[in-house]
Amino acid sequence: MVDIKRNQTRAVKIGTVVIGNGNRIAVQSMTATKTTDIDATVKLVQLMHDAGADVVRIAVDSKKDAAALGEIRSQTTANLSVDLQENYRLAEIVAPHVDKIRYNPGHLYHHETEKPWQEKVRFLAGIAEQNDCAMRVGVNCGSVDPEKKSKYDSSDSITPMLESALEHCDFLDSLDFTRYCVSLKDSDPAKVVEVNQKFASSRPEIPLHLGVTEAGIPPDGVIKTRIAFEQLIGKGIGDTVRVSLTVPNVRKGEEIAAGQGIIDDIYAGRVRSVVEFNTNSLNIISCPSCSRVENEAFVDLAEQVKSMTEYAKEHAITIAVMGCRVNGPGETDDADLGLWCGPKVVNLKKGTEALGAYGYDEILPKLKQELDQLIGNR
Ligand code: SF4
Repeated sequence: MVDIKRNQTRAVKIGTVVIGNGNRIAVQSMTATKTTDIDATVKLVQLMHDAGADVVRIAVDSKKDAAALGEIRSQTTANLSVDLQENYRLAEIVAPHVDKIRYNPGHLYHHETEKPWQEKVRFLAGIAEQNDCAMRVGVNCGSVDPEKKSKYDSSDSITPMLESALEHCDFLDSLDFTRYCVSLKDSDPAKVVEVNQKFASSRPEIPLHLGVTEAGIPPDGVIKTRIAFEQLIGKGIGDTVRVSLTVPNVRKGEEIAAGQGIIDDIYAGRVRSVVEFNTNSLNIISCPSCSRVENEAFVDLAEQVKSMTEYAKEHAITIAVMGCRVNGPGETDDADLGLWCGPKVVNLKKGTEALGAYGYDEILPKLKQELDQLIGNR
């Protein structure tokens, strides 16, 4: 057993679990069913709970989702977290049914634009307080606070994320709300390591939720995540984790098994990293899917992209495949080629440039055409 000196973080209670302050590293996952499909969502929550998930997160984007959460709560004892996007006011409806509220600082700009973000966070912290909920400030590479992003050169994605997280921590502290953790996620494990190390050295007392976003299809998705976790958990950073894998719902328990497996391996000294990841080869990133997926064909498409592009594996090209319009357009910006899926069409992008929308049966040849051109131009 390796003796890892954990960062002395604050204890944060999430339902029946306490993270931070030397407690066991908690493992989380997220549902990918439509939240309004109560039976399917409860079934998936239960599958994750039975697989050992300490907390299960559910996305809520509408009043209908929020109403469904009350019913879901009554059918499970799992610790639940709600994932809010733009409509932060939904927190008021869902908070009585959950143990944790996750908000993304970058998403607080799209709704009630005239209102400063501080007012919105004050509202969220008040709701969390009244309903015995913890919070997570979830900063994500694909949706960073636009004000922070515009201050720095586009080649620096770390500083805007870090500044945004630190600013929200300072503000929550000024409200005397300290029952929160922070996450700083990117699809590149090296960036996840860098930004989390920087945050932990600046605010070592704040618990961190670790994750590599859009890690993709196993086994690659597990390997990418392992690389980041080994370097962070191995240095005492991280109080809770999620492994984001692109797998069908029936296999979502694999996210928990992978997370627990990586933690166990690190504590047993079975580490394999210290290499830079995928700097000279094809890198396919794909989101783990969630209730926002607009067409279930997305998971199959991610698999097809992986096998179709096999021939290009020696090229340092990043292809991103995302499941919805909420995060898809932003999170494909940094990829060489990006696909984000709508209900009927798949949107194809080259960097930030939109190339068009194609049917699910037309997209692969179009992608191949663009990939070939990219390889030819290099
Ligand atoms: S890209 Fe959309 S579908 Fe995929 S995990 Fe993110 S929010 Fe969910």
